[in-house]
Amino acid sequence: MTARIYSVEFFPPRTPDGVEKLRATRRALAPLEPAFCSVTFGAGGSTREGTLETVLEIRDEGLTATPHISCIGTTQPIVRDVLARYKSHGIRHLVALRGDLPSGAVDAGDFRYANELVEFVRRESGDWFHIDVAAYPEYHPQAKSPDEDFVNFQRKVAAGANSAITQYFFNADAYFRFVEQCVASAIDVPVVPGIMPISSYTKLARFSDACGAEIPRWIRRKLESYGDDSASIRAFGLDVVTKLCADLLDGGAPGLHFYTLNQAALTTTLWQRLGI
Ligand SMILES: Cc1cc2nc3c(=O)[nH]c(=O)nc-3n(C[C@H](O)[C@H](O)[C@H](O)COP(=O)(O)OP(=O)(O)OC[C@H]3O[C@@H](n4cnc5c(N)ncnc54)[C@H](O)[C@@H]3O)c2cc1C
Repeated sequence: MTARIYSVEFFPPRTPDGVEKLRATRRALAPLEPAFCSVTFGAGGSTREGTLETVLEIRDEGLTATPHISCIGTTQPIVRDVLARYKSHGIRHLVALRGDLPSGAVDAGDFRYANELVEFVRRESGDWFHIDVAAYPEYHPQAKSPDEDFVNFQRKVAAGANSAITQYFFNADAYFRFVEQCVASAIDVPVVPGIMPISSYTKLARFSDACGAEIPRWIRRKLESYGDDSASIRAFGLDVVTKLCADLLDGGAPGLHFYTLNQAALTTTLWQRLGI
């Protein structure tokens, strides 16, 4: 098996305090030697400069930085400009997404779906970029049907994606089933599970409702029962997520991508417990 890829994800901070906190998080995570640090991109370009600044700062610290780029609500000339800037800075890896239109926004712009963005990046930049795309083992919340969602994932690979990172999930079977479907459909790009450490029940419940990730009943009930006892939530969450990661790796997952939410502690503990 090729070497597994362990990576981390940040969002671009919006305040000077947030910038400092993220620097401290990176200092704490750097000894883990993540394969890359990805940086999210607000839909419609709301964090365009913040994403680039954060990516360049990460790179200057000697880590590999990977910008996300989302296409909904934007235009081809704007994406062309963003690609040219990344290229001029020697960035060679992107996570290409559709993104979600902010509520109230109506103008979808030049792109409707992520496969169109992947096609555009390939048309504009050839093989310069390694392109990651999103995958949904529990299906995207707007998908018309599971089968159509899978076909839409296939479109992104056919358009030139090199690998995929999944939405987070707590049910390893959903991931393994998705990978089996890829194998059966001759899709051979690595599909890396996205891992969400659990730090707060309310935040997790809100995110999960929005992105269609299921929190299994036994996990939800247990987390609810801790109320505002955050130490117990974190301890239980670490046990659950460590077991999930171990099962995924035992089952052949090609790596893990950690949604750090710009915090170092839980991701570090997970890496240590997993011995990675
Ligand atoms: C690893 C990861 C990183 C993320 N990073 C960011 C980020 O930085 N910024 C951000 O704004 N969001 C981010 N997101 C969230 C993502 O933008 C949303 O989940 C969004 O709703 C869908 O993006 P997508 O790229 O998966 O879209 P798509 O692949 O375009 O899919 C969106 C929906 O449209 C359907 N669909 C896709 N293609 C077609 C087609 N050709 N015809 C008809 N239907 C189609 C799909 O079935 C799905 O229901 C991330 C998600 C993941 C998993």
